[in-house]
Amino acid sequence: MRARPKKPLRPTSVKAGFGRNHISFTGSAAKCPRCPIIKKVNQIQDVIIVGSGPAGYTAALYAARANLDPTLFTGAIAGGQLMITTDVENYPGFPDGIMGPELMGLFRAQAERFGTTVIEQHVTKVDFSGETHKVWVGEQEYSARTVIIATGAEAKWIGLPSEITFSGYGVSACATCDGFFFRGKEVIVVGGGDTAMEEANFLTRHASKVYVVHRRSDLRASKIMQKRAFDNPKIDFIWNATVEEILGETDPLKKVTGARLKSMLEGKTWEMPIDGVFVAIGHTPNSDLFTGMLEMDELGYLIVEPFSSRTKIPGVFACGDAADHVYRQAVTAAGTGCMAAIEAERYLEAQQHVAHAL
Ligand code: NAP
Repeated sequence: MRARPKKPLRPTSVKAGFGRNHISFTGSAAKCPRCPIIKKVNQIQDVIIVGSGPAGYTAALYAARANLDPTLFTGAIAGGQLMITTDVENYPGFPDGIMGPELMGLFRAQAERFGTTVIEQHVTKVDFSGETHKVWVGEQEYSARTVIIATGAEAKWIGLPSEITFSGYGVSACATCDGFFFRGKEVIVVGGGDTAMEEANFLTRHASKVYVVHRRSDLRASKIMQKRAFDNPKIDFIWNATVEEILGETDPLKKVTGARLKSMLEGKTWEMPIDGVFVAIGHTPNSDLFTGMLEMDELGYLIVEPFSSRTKIPGVFACGDAADHVYRQAVTAAGTGCMAAIEAERYLEAQQHVAHAL
């Protein structure tokens, strides 16, 4: 069940201090004489990874096992979107499911085991214009021959307090992740785009009824996705309406019991009994940092060469949800993270050959 916490969770394996590979402090490296970060500041590294979801940690694992001594910057929430997920039942290898934070703790431990340096800091600036790529955390500058971007994406939310209260307890932004929990139940999908149609259609595999609540009377979704939804007998549409509040119980257990809808035409409100609410109003890739530096599509997703993680800039690779608006799964993110590390390794090898030939 995908949930959204009030404050970021941390994997249990993370400790503040100066462990062998994990570094967690907020000050400047230069003020920290004992800290292995200094080595990283003063050298041109082979690989810097920005982001710590499945893509980032998998890239780190492969880069570390290729003896590239990678440094990974976690970003604000170490572990990414799975840190705000409860049960993950679709990650292969865990037949009984696993909690999101636990899974990311394992990803991290595996990357660290082979020598990844994990720095719990947020990259604030990058410069890919030179031969060596630069990454900043505040005033601190790091250099690397290759940079792997794995900054992920975030689901958009309506912005209701009740959405936060019931996140992971009946409110979700991922039908693939959480649809299974709504077997035989009735759910709402909010949105009128392709994501909403896709989520609604997928949910009919489990739910007995799916109501698409859309704020207008025209869908934004492509015609083919619209048709699929219109043809599905388990899907009904509630037009010109928004979800004003998600209703539920918090004691003894949190659960959604209904939603208060509001008509966009007359302004009247009404309550509707429902078991779950899927918010499908789009995603935002975390790519602002690369504006003007890397190619993006109109939604801000980073553009890579087909079947590759290569961006237009040599030595800069992008993987995971920041470069994928289609699949957005932990397992696909991990797969593209692996691709990015292998491509970075091959790029470095090719560079070495060029240097030797000169
Ligand atoms: P989208 O096209 O931007 O649609 C978002 C929908 O949510 C719109 O209908 C919008 O309403 C509604 N919405 C936005 N904010 C809202 C709010 N606060 N309250 C209520 N409703 C709100 O996003 P998307 O569906 O995620 O699609 C993004 C891109 O990915 C599109 O290019 C899409 O084609 C692509 N995509 C493709 C596939 C596929 O091909 N299988 C699947 C998913 C996504 P309005 O229409 O009134 O603005």
